[in-house]
Amino acid sequence: MRVMSKSKNLTTRAKPKTKSKPATPPAFTKPALPQPTAVPPSRAHASAYHYPLLIEDGVVGKELLRWFEGIEEVRNMPWRKKWLDPAECEGGEEFGSLLERRAYEVWVSEVMLQQTRVSTVIPYFNTWISKWPTVDALAEASHDDVLSVWKGLGYYSRATRLHDGAKVVVSAKDGPCKIPSGVDALQKIPGIGRYTAGAVSSIAFGEAEPVLDGNVARVLSRQLGLYVDAKDKKSTDVLWEVADVLVKSVAGYPDEGRSSIPGQWNQALMELGSTICTPRPKCDECPIRRTCRVYAEGETLSLKKAAVTTVVPDIEDACTLCLQLDTEDLATAPEDAGDDEDDAPPKPVKRRKVETKPANTISNYFSSRMTPKPKPEPATPASSDASLQPTTDPSTKRKIPTPTPAQTKAIATYCSLFPKKMPKKAVPEEDAVVCVISAPATRSLDKRRWLIEQRPAKGLLASLWQFPQQTLPPAIKHTAASRKATARAYVESLGLGSLDGRDARELGSLVHVFTHLKLTMYVVHIGLETDGEILEGAPARKWVATEDMGGETLSTGMRRCWELVAAT
Ligand code: SF4
Ligand SMILES: [Zn+2]
Repeated sequence: MRVMSKSKNLTTRAKPKTKSKPATPPAFTKPALPQPTAVPPSRAHASAYHYPLLIEDGVVGKELLRWFEGIEEVRNMPWRKKWLDPAECEGGEEFGSLLERRAYEVWVSEVMLQQTRVSTVIPYFNTWISKWPTVDALAEASHDDVLSVWKGLGYYSRATRLHDGAKVVVSAKDGPCKIPSGVDALQKIPGIGRYTAGAVSSIAFGEAEPVLDGNVARVLSRQLGLYVDAKDKKSTDVLWEVADVLVKSVAGYPDEGRSSIPGQWNQALMELGSTICTPRPKCDECPIRRTCRVYAEGETLSLKKAAVTTVVPDIEDACTLCLQLDTEDLATAPEDAGDDEDDAPPKPVKRRKVETKPANTISNYFSSRMTPKPKPEPATPASSDASLQPTTDPSTKRKIPTPTPAQTKAIATYCSLFPKKMPKKAVPEEDAVVCVISAPATRSLDKRRWLIEQRPAKGLLASLWQFPQQTLPPAIKHTAASRKATARAYVESLGLGSLDGRDARELGSLVHVFTHLKLTMYVVHIGLETDGEILEGAPARKWVATEDMGGETLSTGMRRCWELVAAT
C-alpha cells in the first residue's frame, strides 16, 4: 500500500534504495475474507483478525498523516522540523552537515523524552542545543558540564550515555555526516536502542523504519484488537513487526526511496498515542477510528446489543495471542485521564466501581448504560473529514449509526481495556541514613560548608554528587536513636575527627522512588568543628559553601534532602 502518492506535502522523495525483501509479518498474513468483529465477552476470533486494517484502508492512513500535519506545530516542540530533502539541497558537504545536525537533534530529543514530559523537556532541549549545537561540540564537553546541564531532568545515566555516544560517533567517522542512517549502525552507539534508532533513522534520514514506545504500542494493540500485555516479550515482538510492516507499507517500501513519510508516520502514531489514544481514549476525535478493531468491538457491543452472546463460536485457526478478556478490568476501568501522556509521572488512578448486580459482565455493563435504541442524532453539517462521518464496520462495510454521547463514553471505556493491564510488580524497599555534615559547627548557616561525595562513574546515578549515606540493614528494626547512632559511627569512620560533644539531629525522612527501588532516606545532620580538611582517596569528596550547593550536580533525591536542610 502506498497512501501518499498524490500528496505534495507528504511525497518528498529521494533516490530509491536497493530493493530488499518485502516486510510481511508472519504473525499477520492477509486474510482471504474480511474478518467479522470479535464480540465480547468471548471475543472469539481467528489469528487473521489482527491483520492491520490500516494497510487495507489507505485512505485512513492518509487521514492520520493529514491529521498530524495539521497539529504537528501545536505543541511547539523545537525538535520538530521539516524533513531535509536531499533533492532540495545543494552541495553535498553542506547538506551532510545539516543532516548530521538534524539527526543529532532528533537523537537528543528522543533521549530526553524517555520517561519525561514534553513540557519539561523543551527548555532542557533548548539549553542543550544552544550549548552543544553539534555532535562534535557535545563530544568535546566535560562530563561534569553535561551532568550539570541535565540537572533536574532525572535518569542521569541518559546524559552519560548521550555524551559517550557522541564521543563514539565523532571518533568512529570523519566527514560532513558522522551519524549513521541505518538502524543497525545506530544501535551500536552507546545509549541508542531500537526505539531511538528507529526515530533517528526515520525522522532525520527518511528511512522506512518503525518505532515502538508505550504510546505506539497502545495505539497498535487497539487498532489490531490485541488483548495482550504489551510489555511482554512475545507481544512486543509482534507489535514491532506490526509497526514495521505499517511504516514500510505507508512509505511504499521498497519501491520508494527515503522520504518524509516514515518520520511523519511514526511521529503521527506517537502523537496520537499521547494526545488521543491515551489510556482513556478520545475515540470521537480519532482520525483512524474506522480501522480500529477495538472501537468496532465496543461499538458492536453498544449499538447491536441483541447480537451479544456468550456462545463461543467454533473458529478455525483461532488466535493464540490474545488473553481472555477480564470483565473485572471493565468494572474498574480508569476514569478520564485527561491529556495525560504516557511519559508523565504516575498519578494515583481513580477507580470507578461499576454496579456489579446481577452479574458483573460486559454486556450488563453496557446494557446499564445504553439506551435500547440509539436516538437519531440531529443533522450535522456536511464535513469533508471522513472521520467525522458515521463509521463503517471494517469487516462488513456496513454503516453503523453515530453513537450517542453516552455510547461514545461507553465505547471509550471498552477501548481503555486494551492493551491488557498487568498488576504492577512490587518494588523492593530500602532505608538509608543520609549524613548531612557541616563545618564549622558554630557558624551560621551561610558560613558553613557541607561535605558531599561523588558516586561511582558506572551504575545508578553515575558520577553525581551526594551526601555521604549508609544503607540500613533490612532485617533490623530501627528507631530515631539507632539511626543517629548509625550516622555518628559512619561519620567517625570517615576520619573527620572526633565527634565528642557533637550531637546528631534527625531532620526528617523522604521517600524517593526509582524505577527499581523505593528508598526511604532519613536525613541526619551532624555539625563538626573541623575547618574542612580535604579528604584524600575514593570516593572524591569536597566541602561546598552553602551558596554554592545549588550549582552542584546532586541527584533529585539529594536535592530534596538539601531542601529539607535549608528549610530547618
Ligand atoms: S481506541 Fe479509539 S483513539 Fe485509539 S485508535 Fe481506536 S478509535 Fe482511535
Ligand atoms: Zn487475538
